[in-house]
Amino acid sequence: MVEGSRVAWVGSAAQAPAADEVVDAGGRAVLPGFVDSHSHLVFAGDRSREFAARMAGEAYAAGGIRTTVAATRAATDEQLTAHVARLVQEMGRQGTTTVEIKSGYGLTVHDEARSLAVARQFTDETTFLGAHVVPAEYADDPAGYVELVTGPMLEAAAPHARWVDAFCETGAFDVDQARAVLAAGAAHGLRGRLHASQLGPGPGVVLAAELGLAAVDHCTYLTDADIDALRDSGTVATLLPGVEFSTRQPYPDARRLIDAGVSVALASDCNPGSSFTSSVPLCIALAVREMGMTPAEAVHAATYGGARALLRDDVGRLTVGARADLVLLDAPSYLHLAYRPGVPLVAGTWIGGRPAWPG
Ligand SMILES: [Zn+2]
Repeated sequence: MVEGSRVAWVGSAAQAPAADEVVDAGGRAVLPGFVDSHSHLVFAGDRSREFAARMAGEAYAAGGIRTTVAATRAATDEQLTAHVARLVQEMGRQGTTTVEIKSGYGLTVHDEARSLAVARQFTDETTFLGAHVVPAEYADDPAGYVELVTGPMLEAAAPHARWVDAFCETGAFDVDQARAVLAAGAAHGLRGRLHASQLGPGPGVVLAAELGLAAVDHCTYLTDADIDALRDSGTVATLLPGVEFSTRQPYPDARRLIDAGVSVALASDCNPGSSFTSSVPLCIALAVREMGMTPAEAVHAATYGGARALLRDDVGRLTVGARADLVLLDAPSYLHLAYRPGVPLVAGTWIGGRPAWPG
């Protein structure tokens, strides 16, 4: 039962207290709305040719981000806003009721700040990712770029952001640079999260655990020491199988993480280069088919796992007091999310107790 924007009572229909309005789901499954804790929606341009080339055998490298940077800088605020609106709506139709959105395709003081201002119109979970890649104009001076990110760019971005993030990977930023970015963000009141171990094992996961970050994302290549550090710190490992699907890389081993006692989230990483899907149901299906998760674990990771990765306890679960963010499936059980991959099963969503889609 929902009162105002919150869940007021949970139990079997036979015992439900009287309500002003009753919605009969007709035997269909109702779930908490998906919490997509990792996306890069503020961008312009199209990289479908690069995707096609990759499927024809070319390798994925972090530098492809620069293609999107040029298009994003050239776009107007209105174009960026309209594009984010379209993608957020697309996510909503697939059951996402909370979304995190990063900057990271502007990479100038002005373009990072306006990217976050655009994102802020759609969510409170905005993340400053000036440390996404070193832009072409700083190719010979990466240290100078880190100074820009930790100085004037952060200054301009911080009022629009809740989080700070860095891409700690060969070809992007090393562990000392990532540490500097996270420390500067923390000094401005931003909480930290990190991209790490997407393309190979690296020091980012241990750094995230050491700093007690809410989440470290990708975690495709993990050492035993990484897993021990994650378990001990409680840092959520956010797995992004849309990336492995779209870059033809090996999937992360979710089973190994869960069996070791690590908290796991699933998110779309919706972005134009490495994972241009906005579909959490696709991620759930991939996690079950390719990553050793049970359907229950995958749905939990895409709801409450995402909430934990954002340090939220009001979303991602339907307990008394939680925000009434609901997904109604055209299916008798959540199992169908993995059992019927690629099928549009979401019949409706509610955010804060109000119909959000189809409205
Ligand atoms: Zn990402």
